[in-house]
Amino acid sequence: MARAAYSPNSQIRARVWTFSDSELVGAEFFERQIKNAVAARKALIPDNENPSSALRLIHAESDGLPGLIVDRYADVLVLQSLSAGMEFWKETVADLLLEITGLQTIYERSDADVRSLEGLLPIVSCLRGSLAATRILIQENDLKFNVDLETGHKTGFYLDQRLNRRSVRDLANGRTVLDCFCYTGGFALNAMAGGAESVLAVDASAEALALCNENALLNHLPADRLTTLQGDAFQLLRKFRDENRSFDMIILDPPKFAPTAALAAKAARGYKDINLLAFKLLRPAGLLVTFSCSGGIDAALFQKIVASAALDAGVEAQIVGQLSQAPDHPVALNFPEGTYLKGLICRKG
Ligand code: SAH
Repeated sequence: MARAAYSPNSQIRARVWTFSDSELVGAEFFERQIKNAVAARKALIPDNENPSSALRLIHAESDGLPGLIVDRYADVLVLQSLSAGMEFWKETVADLLLEITGLQTIYERSDADVRSLEGLLPIVSCLRGSLAATRILIQENDLKFNVDLETGHKTGFYLDQRLNRRSVRDLANGRTVLDCFCYTGGFALNAMAGGAESVLAVDASAEALALCNENALLNHLPADRLTTLQGDAFQLLRKFRDENRSFDMIILDPPKFAPTAALAAKAARGYKDINLLAFKLLRPAGLLVTFSCSGGIDAALFQKIVASAALDAGVEAQIVGQLSQAPDHPVALNFPEGTYLKGLICRKG
């Protein structure tokens, strides 16, 4: 039927490389897949999005390379190997990546939890070339961000939100904005660049907030319009409600609550909770920009959760925008599980 990598320790026992019985899995196969993925980005990502500065080059199953993530940050490639099959071919793939991109450095961030399910230990180190510092300056759209390749989340930055950040920028003018789960300021800085009157950026991580403030300075954005606040968003949203605070735009981009379908019910309660509170905190005509990156919750379920949050909050709202992951995070039609990021822009009546 297919040629696959067999992984006896994993629940995903086989990951398919190819459905063609004549195709051998080796250097030539990987060369073709990588070239195809790189060519797709060249053709699909406009230059003004700075594809040479920050871009996902390989998106695992959806690029025909199960278990492999490769992101470009300026002149450094960051590689994540997440399956036993990819681990077996990693050195071949690393050589090909340098040859095909013409770059010299690959930093490995194979420290995602899922590696343990494949019986693999975490690895964080330089795989090819050398890196003077793990702090890298990138440009997304026309904003600069410092990314920490060693300690940053995922491979360092949430590249999948590139276009959604633009949407926030286009809608932020004159608004008071609350950016919950702000990380290093992806949405917060775009809101500021879009003319927001004020931005309150909340995250549990002090390091992320420090980088958020640094990134605001880097872009010469008015520092007096940005306030960062460390804490648990669930608690802070309740506190803001009790203090009768209100905002014209609220962004909710929480971490994955449901990594698996089995955890979907618990995750649904979490999403409903924060969305309900956000609807209450929004002023009339305010915008809620709300996301779920949980693979276990599909777009239809997410919309139902947000609808029931509005109902319980006693507000009327309409969907004025539907958001997804940027095209450098494609979804192979035979791998619908790859559709993980969904977002809604809702306008409160
Ligand atoms: N919006 C960001 C990405 C968010 S990722 C961007 O555009 O780059 C999710 C963030 O939620 C992480 O930064 C993590 O530190 C933060 N986080 C996780 N649990 C949290 C909680 N309970 N309260 C506040 N922040 C939390």
